[in-house]
Amino acid sequence: MEKKTHDPAQKRLYQSHEPSLSFPAGHPPAFRQDSFFHGPQIRLVETAHFGNLGGWMLDSQFEPYLGFSYLLAHGLGKPVANASSKITFPKAGRYHVWALTKDWCPGEWESPGRFQILLGDQILKETFGTEPDWNWQSGGAVEVESNQLNSELSLKDLTGFEGRCSAIYFSLDADDKPPIDRDTLPQWRREKVGLPSTAVEQGHYDLIIVGGGISGCAAAIAADSQGVKVAMIHNRPVLGGNASGEIRVHTEGIHGRASKILDKIDTPHYPNSDPLALEADQKRMQNMMALKNVDYFLSHTMNSLEMKDGRVHAVQAMETANGALKRFTGTQFLDSTGDGWLGHMSGCEYRYGRESKNEFNEEWEEHGELWSPEKPDNRVMGSSVMWYTRATSKRVKFPAVPWAKPVAKNYAATEGEWQWEYSHNDLHQVYDAETIRDHMFRAIYGSYSNAIKRRQNANLELDWISFLVGKRESRRIVGDHIYSGVDARDSIEFPDAVVIERRKIDVHYQQKLLGYPVDFKSEAIFQAIKNTYYYIPYRSLYAKDVPNLQMAGRCFSCTHIGLGGPRVMNTCGQMGVATGYAAGLCKKYGKDPREVGRDHIKELRKLCGHEGELPPLIDRAGDTIAEPNELS
Ligand SMILES: Cc1cc2nc3c(=O)[nH]c(=O)nc-3n(C[C@H](O)[C@H](O)[C@H](O)COP(=O)(O)OP(=O)(O)OC[C@H]3O[C@@H](n4cnc5c(N)ncnc54)[C@H](O)[C@@H]3O)c2cc1C
Repeated sequence: MEKKTHDPAQKRLYQSHEPSLSFPAGHPPAFRQDSFFHGPQIRLVETAHFGNLGGWMLDSQFEPYLGFSYLLAHGLGKPVANASSKITFPKAGRYHVWALTKDWCPGEWESPGRFQILLGDQILKETFGTEPDWNWQSGGAVEVESNQLNSELSLKDLTGFEGRCSAIYFSLDADDKPPIDRDTLPQWRREKVGLPSTAVEQGHYDLIIVGGGISGCAAAIAADSQGVKVAMIHNRPVLGGNASGEIRVHTEGIHGRASKILDKIDTPHYPNSDPLALEADQKRMQNMMALKNVDYFLSHTMNSLEMKDGRVHAVQAMETANGALKRFTGTQFLDSTGDGWLGHMSGCEYRYGRESKNEFNEEWEEHGELWSPEKPDNRVMGSSVMWYTRATSKRVKFPAVPWAKPVAKNYAATEGEWQWEYSHNDLHQVYDAETIRDHMFRAIYGSYSNAIKRRQNANLELDWISFLVGKRESRRIVGDHIYSGVDARDSIEFPDAVVIERRKIDVHYQQKLLGYPVDFKSEAIFQAIKNTYYYIPYRSLYAKDVPNLQMAGRCFSCTHIGLGGPRVMNTCGQMGVATGYAAGLCKKYGKDPREVGRDHIKELRKLCGHEGELPPLIDRAGDTIAEPNELS
C-alpha cells in the first residue's frame, strides 16, 4: 500500500503554468474554435478544438495526468462519421504532417484503431493509429497549393474500434518533429496553437468544489442554501460522475437525513447501465442549474493548484473544447474528484491500496487475504466499463477482433454489469486508467464476438458501451480520523457523526485470484454491521495536512475496507451535504473545517439533520426507516 504525500514525477504535469485564452466566468457555452493562426511556417490543430466532431467522442477523462484530451472513434465496431475543422495555411508549400496518436492495442494483428487524415478531398497516404504509445506518427508530406490555403481537415475512422487522435501538426520543415516529453509538450502545444500565456482570473469564491459527481453536487446544494458563493469545476459536460448518463450507475445507500438534497440528484433504482440514467441527468442538471450561488465550469479539468502559507490558495482549470485556462482563488476547497486530486496536488498524505490486516484490526479470518492482507499491498477495487446489446430483426455482422482474443479468450457475453471490473497490482487506477479502460474494451468486444457466434445471440447488436471508465477506488486523503472497516462493522457512534449508513460493507476482488479463466470479472464479499447502522465522523471529511481542504466521496479519509460500505453514491452524497453545510459555517464564523468540527459540531450536525428536531431517516426509495440509537 502506498502512503504518500507527493509523487514528484506526476506533480510536474500540473505545476507548469500554461498560457490561456480569455473568456468570461459563469455558465460556459459549448464554445469551439475552428482554426487558429500559428505563425508563418507551422500549423498545429488540436482535435479537441474541431468545429465538427462528427461521430468522434471528446475524451477528456485522462487529461488530469495525460495532460491532453483526444477524439475517440467509439463506434462499437462501425466506423464513425468524420470529424472536421477548417484550417488556414499561411502559404503554399510542401508540409510535413504528424499526428499525436497511438496504436492502443499493438500486436500481431492489424491495429484496431486505424484512421486516415484528409486535407480537403486529399487523403494522406499514411494510415494512422498504428504505432504503439502516445507519439507523433509521421504522415509524410502533403503539397498545399495556393488555392488550397483555406481547407478542411478531417479525421476518417476506418474501423469503429476506438482510434484516437489528439493533435495534427503541419510544418514546412521535415526535421520539425514535435516533442513528446510530458514536461514540454503542453506548453509547446499552447505556443503553437497561439494561446495566450496567462490564465484568466475568475475571481474569488467562498468554496471551490472540484468534481461534480453526486458528492460534489450535494455539497453545492448544501453550500448554496447557506449563501456560500461556489465555483463548481467538473471535467465532463454533464454532472453526476458515475451516476451520469455517461457511466450509468444507479445511486445506492440511504439518504439518511439528507433526502431534501439527495432527492434532487439521485437516480431511481433501475439496473446499472439503463438509458433511464439520461432522464436522471435531466432532473439533476435542472435542479443544479437552479442554484443561485453556484457558478458552473463544466468540461473544465482542474490541472494545477497554488498553495500560500500552507493553504490552498487557487486552482487552475482548462476548458477542454478551446484550451482556455482559468484561475480561481478560494477561501475553502472541496475535493470531490474521486481520485483525490486536490489532496494530492496540495501535498496531503493519502493512502492507496490495502492496509495490512493488523493496522486497523480489519482481519476477517473467513476470507483471509481476499479481504485483508497480511502485508499492505497496492490492490484496490477495480474500474468498470458497462455495456449492453439490443435485439435486431436480422443476423448481425461484426468484424473479426483478433486483438481482443488474448483478453476475452473464450468468454462469451451479451452485456456487462458491475462485475466487469479490472484491477491489477501493477496498474494504478489513476495513472494507468487509460490502459484499464482499453483492457475492458478488449474484454467487451472479444466476449461479444464470441457470444454472437451462438445461434441464440446472432441477432444481438452492440447498443451501448461507456467510453468512460467507472472508478471505485484510488487515492484516499488522510483526515483527522481514518475511517476503518471496524468503525463500520462495530457501529462506532462518533460524537461528530454527520453521515449515517446501514448498507453492509463490501469489497471486491478479481475472480482471477481464485483461478477464473479471465481477468476482467470481480466478486464482492459482504460483511454485516453489528447494530444496523454505522456513522461517519466529520473528522474524516477534512484533510489533516491542509487546513482549508475538505473531502467528500470515495476520496474521503478511510481505509480500503472502511471505503467498502460508504463508497456508494447516496452515502457519498451525505458526505457532500455535510461538507457543503460545513463550508457555510466556515463562512459564518470565519473558521476552517477543523475548527468548525471542534467549535460548532452541534450546529453542523443539526444542519445535517442529526440533532434537535429529527426528521425521519429515509432510504433510497424514499421510505421512512427505523431510527438508530440517538448519538450524543
Ligand atoms: C461499475 C460500478 C458500479 C457501482 N455500483 C454502485 C451502485 O450500484 N450504487 C452506488 O451508489 N455506487 C456504486 N458504485 C460506486 C460509486 O459509483 C462510486 O464510489 C461513486 O461514484 C463515488 O462518488 P464520487 O462523487 O466520489 O466520485 P465520482 O462519481 O467518480 O465523481 C467525481 C467526478 O469528478 C470528476 N473529476 C475528477 N478529476 C477532476 C478534475 N481534475 N477536474 C474536474 N473534474 C474532475 C470526474 O470526472 C467525476 O465525474 C459503483 C461503481 C462502479 C464503477
